[in-house]
Amino acid sequence: MEKKGTIGVTTENIFPIIKKFLYSDHEIFLRELVSNAVDATQKLKTYASLGEFKGELGNVSVCVKLDKENGTITISDKGIGMTSEEIDKYINQIAFSSANEFLDKYKNDANSIIGHFGLGFYSSFMVSKKVEIITKSFKEGSEAVKWSCDGSPEYSLEPTTKEERGTDIILYIDEENKNFLEKVEIEKLLKKYCRFLPVPIVFGKKTEWKDGKSEETDEDNIINDTNPLWTRKPAELKDEDYKKFYQDLYPFSDEPMFWIHLNVDYPFKLTGILYFPQVKSNVDLNRNKIQLYSNQVFVTDSVEGIVPEFLTLMHGVLDSPDIPLNVSRSYLQSDQNVKKISNHITKKVADRLEEIFKADRTQFEEKWDNLKLFIEYGMLTDEKFYERARKFCLLKNSDNKAFTFEEYKTLISANQTDKDGNLVYLYANNREEQFSYINTARDKGYDVILFDGQLDVHMAGMLEQKFEKSRFVRVDSDTIDNLIQKEDSKEVALSDKQKENLSEAFKSQLPKIDKTEFTVDYKALSEKDQPIQITQNEFMRRMKEMSAMQTGMGFYGEMPNNYNLVLNVEHPLVKKIISDIEDKDKENIDAYAGENSNIRQLVDLALLSNGMLKGEALNNFIKRNMNSL
Ligand code: ADP
Repeated sequence: MEKKGTIGVTTENIFPIIKKFLYSDHEIFLRELVSNAVDATQKLKTYASLGEFKGELGNVSVCVKLDKENGTITISDKGIGMTSEEIDKYINQIAFSSANEFLDKYKNDANSIIGHFGLGFYSSFMVSKKVEIITKSFKEGSEAVKWSCDGSPEYSLEPTTKEERGTDIILYIDEENKNFLEKVEIEKLLKKYCRFLPVPIVFGKKTEWKDGKSEETDEDNIINDTNPLWTRKPAELKDEDYKKFYQDLYPFSDEPMFWIHLNVDYPFKLTGILYFPQVKSNVDLNRNKIQLYSNQVFVTDSVEGIVPEFLTLMHGVLDSPDIPLNVSRSYLQSDQNVKKISNHITKKVADRLEEIFKADRTQFEEKWDNLKLFIEYGMLTDEKFYERARKFCLLKNSDNKAFTFEEYKTLISANQTDKDGNLVYLYANNREEQFSYINTARDKGYDVILFDGQLDVHMAGMLEQKFEKSRFVRVDSDTIDNLIQKEDSKEVALSDKQKENLSEAFKSQLPKIDKTEFTVDYKALSEKDQPIQITQNEFMRRMKEMSAMQTGMGFYGEMPNNYNLVLNVEHPLVKKIISDIEDKDKENIDAYAGENSNIRQLVDLALLSNGMLKGEALNNFIKRNMNSL
């Protein structure tokens, strides 16, 4: 007997909202309906295993069929089906409280509405002018029923005939959503949302190339992998399996370096595989490749705010039924479960890295250059990760030798502690350009860290804060004896006039370099030390480097580069110049300097060893030296 009725009280509010407001998320109807079909199938399998269902399971694939002529999409399963009472209960009575208020608040957020009320099925009305359910329960003696609704709150429910148990959902696609009747479109959506569902999903037949065209075969076209790697036991899997899965997820990618197979049962359920990709230099390129699943249903691949920021550099899949996946992003970000999961992943990632570090340090060191960006990013942005990673974070020196923080401290503490008891970490950020400075430091028995990565300036700043009584200074930021002051520096015994003259003489021979300024400085080093050096103040340089990486520090970015031209007043060559010019008037100094080949040569050599002698100045230098051969 046909029954007529009105769907729940509040559906009058829901239909217009579903139809009108939920445009952006239209495509999720397919995810919702296919997951319902999968759930119904899984439930039947459970009943079978418990002995509550004694019939034949048979082929339990879920079928998605497209009928372009009649304008329908049908999703069929051979799951538990529904009796007419169940339709009444699960489909007709959408029981919820304070609905109006909620709907009003979230009317622009399809996922919230759908997730909050378990309205998965009703998302079908986003794309349909009419929906039919033809279903027959697995329970013995059940009658098949047909439910039909055209998007108004009225539905009809009547007996019908259906051979097999299970449910067909038939969508009569409306005008605006005709694109969903295209095979490629549905294929795309199935690949996106259903690729790893646990029950086979069939979409048409497999095709093969015959006589130059593609032809349908008899074989079902199963679009999913029902046993994705993360659901399997790590003990059964080989490295090749993980690598292959990575290639499936990200075709044409470089091989991943490491992976972590997550399998958590308590206090929440979480499985997944996270890969460390080969992150070469650009942080942003590699972001947002993690896919989030809920019981093998794809939810999103934009995980920002859900996993810690630095983990967005990792690739792979996470699957948890405990993440409230159907709610809005802001809700997710403040959810306590999500926070716990996120902390847990951080811990696991750190544990795994420590494990590899301990088990195979050689391999870890080999991969360090790739891992470094990731680990440093984590340490800079996540205090907890810093605490864990400081045990295996490496510092590489100019000889390419790697040390942990502790090891490095032991290496340098005897030799690189200054007179005030500060430990001085020397670093270079370019082995070639700072070669002579590195050499000078090494000659003193000092060690130089090579900090040539994207985040190393920030690391230097952070480590200086973290390490007690320590300073990080770049090798070219001062003369070596000043960088690590062992004793009070010797007084420079020059009168103001001598200094002035000296400054004038050397400045007059400096080539003009764009956005670059020099200050002449005097140091009483030993006579064996270099007569002249160019240094750049550590603080100013760091500020400029940081401002290049972030906005809001434009002030430092605009400043010219300031260098010190440091003269060693104890060096015989400099001494000679001092005595030559000390009585001269300012006007005569320039002329003297122009004639004095030593001054020009010293200036050029200092620039040259700093990589700053270029263009015409370099050309003149070469000519001059050729001619004197
Ligand atoms: P949810 O899946 O979140 O519970 P839905 O609106 O998608 O919400 O579905 C409501 C209920 O209808 C389901 O819980 C289930 O009991 C029933 N149902 C939906 N689709 C099917 C199906 N294909 N087979 C059997 N029961 C179904």
